[in-house]
Amino acid sequence: MHLMQHISAFLTLVLTVTVSLTNALHCPRDRSRNVRNLLKEVVYPLFTQVKTSVPDTCLFSPERDKYLLQEENKVSEGISKWYCNYCGKGFYSEDYLDRHFDNRHSEYVREDKSSVCFADYCDIMRCDILAGRRKKEFWDVSLCLESDMKDLMDDCERLMSACVPDGLSKNATEFLITHMTENVCSFLTCKKYWQSAVEEENDGVIFYSILTVFLIIVFTIYYCVAYHYFYTDTFTDSYYETYYDRQHPVSNPPVGRQQEGIPGTRRRIMEDIAEHEVS
Ligand SMILES: [Zn+2]
Repeated sequence: MHLMQHISAFLTLVLTVTVSLTNALHCPRDRSRNVRNLLKEVVYPLFTQVKTSVPDTCLFSPERDKYLLQEENKVSEGISKWYCNYCGKGFYSEDYLDRHFDNRHSEYVREDKSSVCFADYCDIMRCDILAGRRKKEFWDVSLCLESDMKDLMDDCERLMSACVPDGLSKNATEFLITHMTENVCSFLTCKKYWQSAVEEENDGVIFYSILTVFLIIVFTIYYCVAYHYFYTDTFTDSYYETYYDRQHPVSNPPVGRQQEGIPGTRRRIMEDIAEHEVS
């Protein structure tokens, strides 16, 4: 028993270390980009409005982005023309350019302690939902726990309040807190978590369409099975029996044929036809 406990504790430790190492080494670029874009869209402009900049105490400061240097060296000429500013190579998509950065210019990924992997905050920033990787699904909504959401929202508000610079006027401070909460944290409830500008109105329609198609498939399968069970087999058997019975009112087939070992009604019918033709 003791040995088993030691083994399970060891395995847990190995798993924990592996997971944390993987997370530390790998910071998904696409998810980081989603968070970065959201910040650019709904958070950074608030700071511009009150004429201040995002302080370094804020985890979401653009200066702390792990991929900041590489991001600054992306040159885009439209959605399918991307260039690496370090070596001038061109790519058809931003993803390919990201892979090129990983392969050729990995020295420009920041590893210092103050750098932040934005992808780590994907749950708070709802990046999978906003990027369309995750849709609102029936079970997500049904199984959503308000208490989990409350924890997430508390985290969000704590992180955002660290982004308000010292020495701002009371009004500016209130403005920043109110709007950061409204633009990011307020979505962390079961009701609003899956909201996004695009899909919100279609949710009900999509759900009922899927349900209708599902029911049609289930009923079709049911009727096919029921039809085969009650009609098809009986119909086939009775057809051949009736034909044979009509030709042979006596139900026992001749002995000779049984010895020849011809099985099945169908064979007998074919023989009968041949026999009648000859005579
Ligand atoms: Zn390059």
